[in-house]
Amino acid sequence: MRIRTQFQVTMLLFGALLLVISASALLTRLQVKRAEQQEEIADSIAKGASELSYLSNDYVIYRESQQLARWRSRFALFSGNVSRLHAVGPEQQTLVSNMQPDLWRLKTVFDSIVSAIAQEQGEPVDPRFLQVSWSRIAVQSKELVSDASRLSRLLDAQAGKAERDNMMVILAMIAVFGVYFLTNFLIVQRRMLKSIARLQAGTAVIGSGDLDFKIEERKNDEIGDLSHAINRMASDLKRVTASKSEYQKTEKRVRQQIAIQEAINRVLEQAIIPKSERKLGQTCLSIAVELTESKFGLLAEINNQGLLDDLAICDPGRENRRLTAPFAIRGLYRRVIQDGKAFYTNDPDSHPDGVGAPEGHPRLTAFLGVPLFRDTKTVGIIALGNRQGGYRPEDLEAAETLAPAVMEALMRKRAEDLLKDSEKQFRRAVEEAPIPIIMLAEDGQVLQISRSWTQHTGYSLQDMPNFEAWLNRAYGEGAEAVREHVYYLLSGSRRSIDVEFPLRTRGGEIRYWSFSASSPGFLRDGRRFAVGMAVDITEHKKAEQLKDEFIGMVSHELKTPLTVIIGALSVANDERLPPEQAKELITDAGSYATALAGLVENLLELSRYQSNRLMLQAEQADISPIAQGVIHKLKAKSPLHRLHLDIGPDIPKVMIDRVRVERILSNLVENAIKYSPKGGEVRITARLQNSQLIIGVSDQGIGISIEDQRRLFQSFERIRAYETPNIPGLGLGLRVCRILVEAHGGRIWVESEKDKGSTFFFTVPLA
Ligand code: ADP
Repeated sequence: MRIRTQFQVTMLLFGALLLVISASALLTRLQVKRAEQQEEIADSIAKGASELSYLSNDYVIYRESQQLARWRSRFALFSGNVSRLHAVGPEQQTLVSNMQPDLWRLKTVFDSIVSAIAQEQGEPVDPRFLQVSWSRIAVQSKELVSDASRLSRLLDAQAGKAERDNMMVILAMIAVFGVYFLTNFLIVQRRMLKSIARLQAGTAVIGSGDLDFKIEERKNDEIGDLSHAINRMASDLKRVTASKSEYQKTEKRVRQQIAIQEAINRVLEQAIIPKSERKLGQTCLSIAVELTESKFGLLAEINNQGLLDDLAICDPGRENRRLTAPFAIRGLYRRVIQDGKAFYTNDPDSHPDGVGAPEGHPRLTAFLGVPLFRDTKTVGIIALGNRQGGYRPEDLEAAETLAPAVMEALMRKRAEDLLKDSEKQFRRAVEEAPIPIIMLAEDGQVLQISRSWTQHTGYSLQDMPNFEAWLNRAYGEGAEAVREHVYYLLSGSRRSIDVEFPLRTRGGEIRYWSFSASSPGFLRDGRRFAVGMAVDITEHKKAEQLKDEFIGMVSHELKTPLTVIIGALSVANDERLPPEQAKELITDAGSYATALAGLVENLLELSRYQSNRLMLQAEQADISPIAQGVIHKLKAKSPLHRLHLDIGPDIPKVMIDRVRVERILSNLVENAIKYSPKGGEVRITARLQNSQLIIGVSDQGIGISIEDQRRLFQSFERIRAYETPNIPGLGLGLRVCRILVEAHGGRIWVESEKDKGSTFFFTVPLA
C-alpha cells in the first residue's frame, strides 16, 4: 500500500473511532439524563404520596374546604407525575403499572372519606371511621411510596449502568485503536523505516562517489519511487563524469601534479630569498627528497676536472655533512650523466651499473637519479635514495619535472650574485667618483650620492633620505624650479636634463652647479631611476662675472686718460694758445699717456702670465738707478708727496729683469702716492737678508687693516673701494707685482696699519 493511502486509511479509522466514541458518549449522556429525570419524578412521587397522606389525615381531622382543595391540586400534580413515568424493562413496568391502580385506590379512599364527611354534615366523625380511613390512606400511600422509591433506585442503577457501559465502550474503542496503532507501527517499521534505512545507506554509498551502486527498489510506494529516482540520478551522473575509480585515479594524478607544481614554486621562491648558494642547494634538495619521499639525496655538479662537486647532501641526522673532496663520476651516477636520462632501480645491488654505496653510507635499497641540464648539456645530477617500498614511475616523473626548476633556481642565484657584485662595483664607482653624483628613484628616494657630493655640499646620504629633503635644504625658495625639472625626468617625460642652479651648502655658502641628469631605466623593483652629476661652476661663474666687471673697469680706466689726452692735445694744437700753455698741456697729455702705458703694461703682463708666456730677461743690475728712474718719472705726478730713495751704496747687484722690477716699483710707488691723498713721504728702501735683497716702498697714507691685507695680491681685488671713490684703479697693480716678484723667485708682502701708512716689501735674488 502506498504511504499516502495508508495515511488516509489511518486518518479515516481514527475519525470513525472518534465519531463512535462521541456518539456513544452522547447516547449515554441522554440515557443517564433520562434516567435521572425519571428518578427525580419517582422521588417526587414518593414525596407526593407521603404529602397526600398527611393532607388527607389533616382534612379528616379539620375538614376544611381549603385543605380539600389543596389535596385535590396536589393529587392532580401527583397523578401528572405518575403519568410521566416511562418504564424501561419489565421490572420498572411492573412498578409503574402497580402505581396507577394504587393512585386510583388512594383517590377512591379519599373520595369516600370526603363523601362520608359530607354526609355527616357537621357531626363529629366516627372515630372508627377515622381509624379505618387513615389506615386505608396510609396503606395506599405506603404502597405508592414504596413503589416510587423502588423505581427511583432502579432508575439510579440504570443511569449507573449506562455510564459504566459508556466507559466500557470508550475503553473498548481505545483498545481497538491501540491495537490498530500498534499494527500500523509494526507495518511502518517493517515497510517504511527499513526502506528508508536502505535508501539512506544507498545514498551514502552513491554520495561517496560509487556511482555504480544501485539502491533496491522493493516496494511500489513513494520510497520505491525515490530509490528509483536516486538510481537514475546516479546512472546519469555516471554517464557525465568518470566512475569512482577513474575519478580516484585522476584525483591522485592531479594531487601529484599539484605537489610537483608546489615543489617547483618553492624551489623558485628560494632563488629569490637571500641566502648562500650552498643553502639554496640544500633547500632544493630537501624539496626533491620530500617530494619523492626519499630517505636521502645528493645534489652535485660536474666541475672543470670532470669530477662531481657536491652542492648539497640530504642525509637525515647528518644534515650538514659535506663530502670532503670532489669525487669521480661512477656507478649509477655515471649511468644517469652519460645517458643524460633519468632512471630508477629498486634493486641497485643487482643493477649492472651498481658499484655499491660508498663507505659509511647506509645500504642503498632504491635509487633514483635525474640529470641536470644547462643548454642541453648535462652539468650535474640529483640522486635520491631509499624510498620506502621503492620508487614508482610517478616519483621519476616528479623528480624529472622538478630538476629543471632546481637548475633554474641555481642559475638565477648565480646570475643574481653576479648582478649584486656588479651592482656593488657600480655603487662603489659612483661613491668614489671625483664628481658630485646622485642616484634617485622615481618615488624620490635618494639611492646614493658620491663622496664628492658630500664634500661639495656638506650633506651626507643620511641628511637627504629623499630628494625633497635635499631640495628644501639646498635650494630653499628655488626648490620649485629644480623639482619641476627632476620630476619631468623621473616621470619619464624627459630622458635627460641639463640645468644650472645656485645652491646653498650646509655651511651656507652659495655655489653654482651645472647639473646634468638622465634616466637610464628601471631598478629591479620596477621603479624608474635617474642618475645626475654636477659640475661646480662657481669659480667659472665668478671669473665670468669678474671678467665682465673688469672689462667695464678697464674701459673706464682707459677712457678717462684718453679723453684727457685727446682734449689736451686738441687744445694745445690751437695756434692762438700761448706756447707755454700749449707746452703745459702737452706735458699733461704725456703724463696721462705714461699712466695709460703703465695700465696697458700691467694688462699685458697679466695676459702673458695667464697664457704662460711670461719670460724674464734676467741680468745683473744695480737696484738704485732703477728705483731712482721710477722716482724721477713719478715725481711730477704729485707735488704733495716727497719721494725718497733710501738705498745704501754697498747694496750688491741683483739678478733681475730690469723692466719688470721697474714695473713692480712703479706700481708700488704709484699706489703709495694714490693711497696717501693728504700727501706725505714715499720712501724706497733696500736691505740684505740672507741671499736676497728686500726692497720696501713705504708711505704715510690710509693704511690697510689686517683682515684686508689677506685679500691683497688677488686679481682685481680692490679693498674698500667705496671708501676711496675718487681714487681710480683696477685692482690689478698688486696682482701684477706678485706675478713678477714670484717670476723672480721672490715673495711680496705688506706691513700696514689702518690710517698709519703701509710698507710693501718684495725680495729679489742677488746676482
Ligand atoms: P688699484 O688699481 O686699485 O690700486 P692695486 O692692485 O694696485 O689696484 O691695489 C689693490 C688695492 O690695495 C687697492 O685698491 C687698495 O685698496 C689697496 N692698496 C694698494 N696699495 C695701497 C697702499 N699703499 N695704501 C693703502 N692701500 C693700498
